[in-house]
Amino acid sequence: MADYSKPTPMMVQYLILKAKAGDCLLFYRMGDFFELFFDDARIAAATLDIALTSRGEHDGKPIPMCGVPVQAAEGYLARLIKAGHRVAIAEQTESPEEARARGGAKTLVNRDIIRFVTAGTLTEDSLLDSWASNILVALTVVGDVVGIAAADISTGYFELINVGQNAVEAELARLAAREIVVPAGFKNLPLGSIQRPQTEFDSLAGEEMLKRLFMLPSTNPIGALTRAELSAASGLLKYLEHVGQGSMPFLKLPLRREAQDFLLIDQATRDSLEINSSLKGGRSGTLLAEVDRTITGAGARQLAADLAAPLMDKSVIHARLSLVQWLHEAPLLRETIRTELRQLPDIARALGRVVAGRGSPRDLGQIRDGLNGARTLRERLGALNNRPLLLDQLLPKLDGHGALVDLLARALVAAPPTDIGQGGYIAEGYDAALDSLRLLGRDGRLAISQMEARYRESTGIAALKIRHNAVLGYFVEVPAKYGDALLAPGTGFTHRQTMAGAVRFNSPELHEEAVRITQASGHALAAEAAHLEDLIHHILSRRDAISESADALARIDVAAALAERAAEGGWCRPSFSDLAEINIEGGRHPVVESALSKSGDRFIANDCTLAPDRRLWLVSGPNMGGKSTFLRQNALIIVLAQAGSYVPATSARLGIVDRLFSRVGASDNLARGRSTFMVEMVETAAILAQATPRSFVILDEVGRGTSTYDGLAIAWAVVEGIHETNRCRCLFATHYHELTRLADSLDALSLHHVRAKEYKGDLVLLHELAEGAADRSYGIAVAKLAGLPPAVIARAQSVLTKLEKGRAETGGLAAGLDDLPLFSAALNSAEARVDVLREKLNGLDIDALSPRAALDLLYELKRTAGEG
Ligand code: ADP
Repeated sequence: MADYSKPTPMMVQYLILKAKAGDCLLFYRMGDFFELFFDDARIAAATLDIALTSRGEHDGKPIPMCGVPVQAAEGYLARLIKAGHRVAIAEQTESPEEARARGGAKTLVNRDIIRFVTAGTLTEDSLLDSWASNILVALTVVGDVVGIAAADISTGYFELINVGQNAVEAELARLAAREIVVPAGFKNLPLGSIQRPQTEFDSLAGEEMLKRLFMLPSTNPIGALTRAELSAASGLLKYLEHVGQGSMPFLKLPLRREAQDFLLIDQATRDSLEINSSLKGGRSGTLLAEVDRTITGAGARQLAADLAAPLMDKSVIHARLSLVQWLHEAPLLRETIRTELRQLPDIARALGRVVAGRGSPRDLGQIRDGLNGARTLRERLGALNNRPLLLDQLLPKLDGHGALVDLLARALVAAPPTDIGQGGYIAEGYDAALDSLRLLGRDGRLAISQMEARYRESTGIAALKIRHNAVLGYFVEVPAKYGDALLAPGTGFTHRQTMAGAVRFNSPELHEEAVRITQASGHALAAEAAHLEDLIHHILSRRDAISESADALARIDVAAALAERAAEGGWCRPSFSDLAEINIEGGRHPVVESALSKSGDRFIANDCTLAPDRRLWLVSGPNMGGKSTFLRQNALIIVLAQAGSYVPATSARLGIVDRLFSRVGASDNLARGRSTFMVEMVETAAILAQATPRSFVILDEVGRGTSTYDGLAIAWAVVEGIHETNRCRCLFATHYHELTRLADSLDALSLHHVRAKEYKGDLVLLHELAEGAADRSYGIAVAKLAGLPPAVIARAQSVLTKLEKGRAETGGLAAGLDDLPLFSAALNSAEARVDVLREKLNGLDIDALSPRAALDLLYELKRTAGEG
């Protein structure tokens, strides 16, 4: 047992707060530092690379301790959060004077946790990436429905969504949450999620909280919310209350989403297509990085969200595309808009901080400048003809803040500071009383410098100075050798401090002036603070309109950026049809194309034409021939098109895709403890279970991870399953030459290959798609290209010749497969057996059977089950 017999009062206070902080690191405020103790100190010292010291004793051992200066705390917090920690901030809740007045000289200052800093609940600029959203998700299950509440409190974004179990993964992948909270005891905990008490996920409480927060008589204006959504909302809001310790951050009225609104893309597919983040982690090499030409942080966040959640509704997609087209066709206008956007601060994030109670004068200045810029942009765009519909919807949202902008323009200086401690953010001329207080201070400082000149003259000490510091206030200072002269009685100077090289004095006159200055500046600071509060109040009363302006600016930025990207790359506007088709001419892979162009190489464009009666392409050809590039580029074109972007192709006509699946390459998932083959099969199983006739699937080298026979057998069955049962559009790349025989039995399957030729004994990869099966596999030629030694190549060639001879004689790997009953027929015969059994069982009168007859019957049933 720990010995708590003699802990200091401070340690007692610390331990109580630490218990409240739970598994968060506790920042314990002591003077100008936040201190950490015990294990917290060890963790923080290691993560932050700062000195670990110790202090006092606890249980007879020194207490490990480290600290960070309050002034620099944000930087340290950022690093701790990045490293996956959460932090509780314990502040002093009274001044030392108040503590003394309360309980005498040695009373400990009261402290309390005022806030938790967690990855999903940040608002500070220095803790956030300007180009990425910062989403917090609450997840709960009611019956077989999953409710998800998601919010980005740095901008007020808030959504509620209801999904079936099989879409949860794709939804979480779309949201890419920084932090997930779930009720305690939740099954299948998402990685790194935080468990909160089950009572916090209560649908009735959720409804009440939503009504209160948005001052609504009912939640109807949000939509017909399910119990799952309400209980997720409750979990989210309760968690926000907890981390803010009662103060609620900015949340807009929640958007009610439906899973059907979006093209569903699960995590494995996102990873393999590298849409928003690359396989290595990070942004470079991703589709997002490749298309992102946005100017503003808010625009970058919107584009990331758009690409993460391509749409299903053609009319919304068209509205986005028409705005892109309008800006695409007007390069000069586009340039002007982008130049204006470049000046604009991040209004959404500034507003988030103001609402969270952490707004600084600088944030108010940003809101002023941002809204002012929005008004200018509206005037410019409003004067133009033939505006697309979406722009007409956006324009009114840019305006309407005239009075607020004027107020902020009059009240604030041009570039207000972040720190309020020094004042100086309220403009001259805004408040006459404040101006005269400042004048008093200025007069006082003038009086003091005149006093200094007078003293120099009267004492004859030219080196005499009147100086100021935080401890003494104003004082007279002379070099040590003149000290005695002023110490003499009758000079009017009183001694205050003797330093190594100087002596400091006070004078009644100086004291009087100093008091006047201090009072005036104290009053001035208070007056500025009162104005600040008033301005914040004005902003809060218009928060929803301000945030709509910010969203509208972001949408314009995204459209201009996509137009810019399209112009750079010669992209085209996709069109949509009701047919389940993919009709892409001259398609390119944007990321591979720009990587090649950096080294001066050209990307070979390829067509892809899938239609209901030709919906499955089997693509073969040598390794490195461009198969996976081709597969991915078509998937990426779908993502771009449904997100409302132009696409890298000469033309593209698409039938809307409902789910996108990609199983490309053997991405190594060993870190998660699954073998590559297992991962491949799990992902393939998900595709077979979930792909619909409106889905698009790309599969690369399925079956590669196991033995040749197993692999071929699985690939064969998967192709048949997709063709017969899922009936989705599919590109299937394979190196199993034998699969080409499937073209005989599967109507909608066609054969294609990436071209290669041998030139003077060397392999040339053309990266060009052609109809029909590849004539050979070129494996040895690729090995030669890769630099395998000539002796090994020669040996491989002779082994191959031998094997091929054997194949010619026996019919090869797939010998006999031609007699296999069709996939559907095989399924039907299994199904038929089940039916016979069912019929026999249903027709049975069990009570009428003798034990002997029952036994005979069992034998008979067993025979039937084993038939075929
Ligand atoms: P495979 O899947 O057939 O092994 P990849 O798709 O991985 O081949 O392509 C191999 C390399 O070939 C790519 O990294 C790229 O550099 C190049 N490549 C692929 N497709 C093209 C193309 N259409 N035009 C030019 N180069 C290409």
